[in-house]
Amino acid sequence: MDEKIKELIDVSRDYGKNKSFVIAGGGNTSYKNEEFIWVKASGSSLETIDENGFVSLSRAKLKPISTKNYSQQSAEREAEVKQDLANAIVSTNGNRPSVETSMHEVIDYPFVVHTHPTNVNALMCSKNAAAASKELFGDDALFIPYTDPGYVLFKKVATEIKLYTDKFGKSPQIIFLENHGVFVAADSVTEINELYEHILQNINACIEKALPSDDALRFESPLLDQIQTLHPGFTNFLAKGISSNLIHHFVKDASTFDKVKTAFTPDDIVYCKAHYLFIPEQKEPLDLIQVAKSSVANYLEINGYLPKIIAVQGVGIIAVEDSIKTILNMLEVYTNILKISFLSENFGGPQSMTAEQIDFIDNWEVENYRRQMAK
Ligand SMILES: [Zn+2]
Repeated sequence: MDEKIKELIDVSRDYGKNKSFVIAGGGNTSYKNEEFIWVKASGSSLETIDENGFVSLSRAKLKPISTKNYSQQSAEREAEVKQDLANAIVSTNGNRPSVETSMHEVIDYPFVVHTHPTNVNALMCSKNAAAASKELFGDDALFIPYTDPGYVLFKKVATEIKLYTDKFGKSPQIIFLENHGVFVAADSVTEINELYEHILQNINACIEKALPSDDALRFESPLLDQIQTLHPGFTNFLAKGISSNLIHHFVKDASTFDKVKTAFTPDDIVYCKAHYLFIPEQKEPLDLIQVAKSSVANYLEINGYLPKIIAVQGVGIIAVEDSIKTILNMLEVYTNILKISFLSENFGGPQSMTAEQIDFIDNWEVENYRRQMAK
């Protein structure tokens, strides 16, 4: 095996196994030489990746994607880009390349490690994301305001990289994406590690109040055994409840829960959907079940789908899905939402995705494919 691919596998696993960088199989990595780029396959997990987890593509065939004229209509355009991406594939091992492949291609360094670290996203999903990243990193980093994923985001990043390169005479090595994460790029893996250390040191220096513990506490609610009765759509579904000091901080009442009731990033939506349901406390268990029933029905009417994350006031969080693997991923992703929200208070408070941004993701075929793969 090529020495560089071995380095790519090692750096992918290093970040992949670190829960503060990579949640539930997110993130992607790449290595490129003059001719080819090896990029993580969609749906494969960094933690356990080997050479079969990457797709190799021809860079000459990827290049025209940034300048070609595609359809103005978003679904059509994504399909056209997907086809061009498929045409550039050299070897797939039966996989589909990461949806962020073109972005990796346009970043002018051999190694690229893209992750969604909790503490970076505390900054990226905050009200002061733009101003605070400027203050902390100056011209060392490129900040990209939230843009719908897919071709539009890629074009935006490509344009901004060009402007940056023209101005500073070198390509940016740190690219922050608002409500998403960070791309770190370098000539070597050592330098990637140094850059990540630099990023986290700067961000962590701003964090004044430590996170409440997320060690598991006992979860007890009559709702847990009754999930299947709340709605016919839940028949045959599984449910798992969790609790911790961190969770208690947010399920105190409806207003504390406001700060974690909506997704922060497209990845949150892939796993947990965009909106999270809050069930207010009731004295009698039967009342609680009644209130939960009508809340679920109301949620379905507003959103068009059933809730996956249900918060019970003063108690904890319940995740509902059809497999335990998916439920555990959801709980991991949702716990991360709580951490991001808490830590974002150091940067002006949380900034969730808007209704418009959420709609785009809900209608995006590529993410639906990832959802299937994640199962
Ligand atoms: Zn990402």
